[in-house]
Amino acid sequence: MTQALSFVHPTPDSPWGTYLMQVDRVVPYLGHLARWVETLKHPKRMLIVDVPIEMDDGRIAHFEGFRVQHNLSRGPGKGGVRFHPDVTLEEVMALAAWMSVKNAAVNLPFGGAKGGIRCDPKLLSNKELERMTRRYTSEIGIIIGPQRDIPAPDVNTNPQIMAWMMDTYSMNTGSTATGVVTGKPVDLGGSLGRVKATGRGVFVTGREGARRINLDLNGARVAVQGFGNVGSAAAELFNQAGGKIVAAQDHTGSIFNDHGFDMADLIAHVKSTGGVGGFKGGEFMNAEEFWDVDCDILIPAALEGQITAERARRVKARMVLEGANGPTVPSADDILAERGVLVVPDVICNAGGVTVSYFEWVQDFSSFFWTEDEINVRLDKIMIGALKRIWDTADRHKITLRTATFAVACERILTARSERGLYP
Ligand code: GLU
Repeated sequence: MTQALSFVHPTPDSPWGTYLMQVDRVVPYLGHLARWVETLKHPKRMLIVDVPIEMDDGRIAHFEGFRVQHNLSRGPGKGGVRFHPDVTLEEVMALAAWMSVKNAAVNLPFGGAKGGIRCDPKLLSNKELERMTRRYTSEIGIIIGPQRDIPAPDVNTNPQIMAWMMDTYSMNTGSTATGVVTGKPVDLGGSLGRVKATGRGVFVTGREGARRINLDLNGARVAVQGFGNVGSAAAELFNQAGGKIVAAQDHTGSIFNDHGFDMADLIAHVKSTGGVGGFKGGEFMNAEEFWDVDCDILIPAALEGQITAERARRVKARMVLEGANGPTVPSADDILAERGVLVVPDVICNAGGVTVSYFEWVQDFSSFFWTEDEINVRLDKIMIGALKRIWDTADRHKITLRTATFAVACERILTARSERGLYP
């Protein structure tokens, strides 16, 4: 009876196509809740907004903005906002759906949502970026709010952009609503530890994965794709644990050093130039060579669809840690599984960011702020506990960690859905 959505045309490797396939794979493990599974394939609410702004030279530019609330059964929507030239409704739908799964996988009292603006922020001045952010926030203001849907940073968005969002929403509602976004600057109700939380979660789940496959982190060779907030923080932690970061890639280039980069130098270079390209402490390599690098741990921490079937055959790593959302397409997932490569999937691996977002939201409500130590201890505890439950599910059914994470999460989402019942 249920029809596929008319306005998206997913392919097997597109983000929404990837997500649909991941849902199909979990159905055998849902028992009586399988009756509700179509809920997961139908986002609850999607808003497309026009974002017109005046550019510095007086021209008027229009940007396409989105906010998708995929599922609100377990609580308010939660998920980031990305600014990128490739943003589409289909991509935001998949990212929102992965947020539903991620939030349920770590048992946060949130549904899943995501937003984005199709733009190239590198081509905008700071003032233009502010005007675009504020107009977008005002447009989506009809569906967001501290109890409704709480945005956060994602690709190309940061604490300053969250501050503008919080201010715009607060101006429109007439009171300071710090809890409307997370990932804010610390002096505006942001949380200590939030900036590095996603990378920290990648490290914590990776450390657990390494223990399970008897991989010693001391001396482990690590390759990182994407050296933004997530990739750089994870790389730093693996380096502190004795790992060697032998390869890094981002939009500015791909670099290699068989002995491992000097992390302090690399991070300083990225800070001053905006990317890893041109780093003197490593050799340049072609983008495609990155996938052939001799490494133990591969961390895709950039965009979706990076590990294709073809690249999955070439990957040398024993473990893939998905810092990005949706980096592995389903055909590649199968190849990695066949080859015995452990994949710690996005929906648990990168859940550290939203977990500390949850802490931030709670702190904003109670107006009582925790120390960074308290944040990190609680984060580690939640991540390790969630991963253990997922691993037990994977062992019990002999399924991949991805399908096990979907099983744990979708059971929680659909239990809430079924207990709430259909209205009317
Ligand atoms: N954008 C991050 C993610 O993909 C964080 C979302 C949040 O903190 O709400 O998980």
